[in-house]
Amino acid sequence: MTRKPPELNPIVRFIKNPSRKNAINAKCAECMGCTPTHLEVGFRVSISHCSSKDCSLYPFRPYPAQKMLEATKSDF
Ligand code: SF4
Repeated sequence: MTRKPPELNPIVRFIKNPSRKNAINAKCAECMGCTPTHLEVGFRVSISHCSSKDCSLYPFRPYPAQKMLEATKSDF
């Protein structure tokens, strides 16, 4: 039996599984130009570098800067 690869588009992931976490991830992806049929190049980094500290989702956004930094370090 083969496993389905994980859904890469956060908006589609939310449509398939509308959890609170998936809703936040989908909204941030949408904010950076993603749609259900389009993933904006570099959207994860854009979310990581989001500077809208007044946005209510800011503390909950995926890919916060520290996590991205650690992911980059582990690539070496
Ligand atoms: S936290 Fe940043 S990326 Fe997420 S919705 Fe708010 S402004 Fe957009």
